[in-house]
Amino acid sequence: TVDRLKESGLLRTQGLIGGKWIDAYDGKTIQVQNPATGDVIATVPCMGRNETTNAISSAYNTFSSWSKLTASERSKCLRKWYDLIISHKEDLALLITLEQGKPLKESLGEVSYGAAFIEFFAEEAKRIYGDIIAPTIDDRRFRRGQTSKPVGVVGAITPWNFPLAMITRKVGPALACGCTVVVKPSEYTPLTALAAAELALQAGIPPGALNVVMGNASDIGDTLLESTQVRKITFTGSTAVGKKLMAGSASTVKKISLELGGNAPCIVFDDADLDVAVKGSLAAKFRNSGQTCVCANRILVQEGIYEKFANAFAKAVQALQVGNGLIEGTVQGPLINEAALEKVETIVEDATAKGADVVTGGKRHSLGMTFYEPTVLGNVNKEMLIFRQEVFGPVAPLMRFTTEEEAIQMANDTNAGRVEIMCYNTCADFILAFGGIITYTGLAAYIFTTSMPRSWRVSEALEYGLVGVNEGLISTEVAPFGGFKQSGLGREGSKYGMDEYLEIKYVCLGNL
Ligand code: ADP
Repeated sequence: TVDRLKESGLLRTQGLIGGKWIDAYDGKTIQVQNPATGDVIATVPCMGRNETTNAISSAYNTFSSWSKLTASERSKCLRKWYDLIISHKEDLALLITLEQGKPLKESLGEVSYGAAFIEFFAEEAKRIYGDIIAPTIDDRRFRRGQTSKPVGVVGAITPWNFPLAMITRKVGPALACGCTVVVKPSEYTPLTALAAAELALQAGIPPGALNVVMGNASDIGDTLLESTQVRKITFTGSTAVGKKLMAGSASTVKKISLELGGNAPCIVFDDADLDVAVKGSLAAKFRNSGQTCVCANRILVQEGIYEKFANAFAKAVQALQVGNGLIEGTVQGPLINEAALEKVETIVEDATAKGADVVTGGKRHSLGMTFYEPTVLGNVNKEMLIFRQEVFGPVAPLMRFTTEEEAIQMANDTNAGRVEIMCYNTCADFILAFGGIITYTGLAAYIFTTSMPRSWRVSEALEYGLVGVNEGLISTEVAPFGGFKQSGLGREGSKYGMDEYLEIKYVCLGNL
């Protein structure tokens, strides 16, 4: 499989700076492993401050020419990049499964979803408008932008759970607006990012417009933050790192967008269509083995339907086939690493110690590695860690409620509180919560009901940036994605996704 990627030229194992493939200046490398097997797929450079500084300079130098192209010229490059991604979709999906672990079918879905952001923003590049504002003084005219202006060099820091799509939904609008970019993908999944960058070069996106560095995350992050040439940071990842980046952006007053953690409620009302609710909750919870920030973290079920729903849901969960994502029929891959697995174990142990029932699953999978059994916990309550912490794994906690008001109150109660246990892992959120810092989140929520008035009432009352009504998979390139409260700032996708990369300029024409 890796040979196939080598033949296609998509297995790139160096960073990209100014259009050149580069090793770390000190020769250091990091291994990229397949989480399903532990095999080393490739090594990539472990870069730091110096490489990042050069990547920023190359983005800065390219900004003047890229931003001066016409929107139509930039649009054509992006469209070509989209076409190349689609024509290599099998290879890109294979790379995603190899380094991230998700089933191949989901990886193919991610390629289509990820590519769609480039196609969409290739089109939006041509739709940047300004306003003429009615004058309040006779001899003057006011206008907002001849066009708005690209903000400048963008630092984009992305996570491992969507190795392609988290990059395209940042880089797509950035390049469309005329910005140039330094991307730092997750060290767990750099290969997909590098393959996408190779295709960007082939598409004619100029050398230096898109740079990729990876390695020491805090050195790279700090270099981006300290640079006066970087005018914008866009980040998807943990709340803890997001807060650090926000604080670090203050000294140079960078524009910033953040897509951080969630603790998504999924509310099943008595009047729900049972099949729709089971199918939708399953999709919202178990996609990518529960490793997305919009995955249902708390399934709140109304008393009257609780038993029926719990039985049908548990049956559906038991049918989920766990395994290596390359094996036909697999729908649940491994978790990304041992730390993620330990976090899931800790959260499940906490729930069962406090009285939750294990309806199905509840332990490491017999396949070993980082596989965990798809799990349903019954009779979960607010005292349990899982009510407050994003589990980021294949564990569905069911909780009962009686009234609509109670469900809304529980759903909006996202105070992460103080956590009494510490789990030494890379998941910064967990450690941060241990320090007693309170996190109120509000990214995605789901409701299942056949009552139209209720769907309006509840979706309006939920303090969340995205709400799925009778649907578990809701993200699309044409709609705005982003969170309330500490789930983030700004929106990705949709026409609003462009605003994050533009500065508004107002011009006053006097003495006409
Ligand atoms: P997760 O817990 O999902 O791995 P992280 O927030 O740790 O989420 O990681 C998301 C991205 O942020 C990754 O690319 C990671 O390397 C990067 N990252 C982690 N720490 C820092 C930091 N101090 N500065 C900049 N980027 C960081």
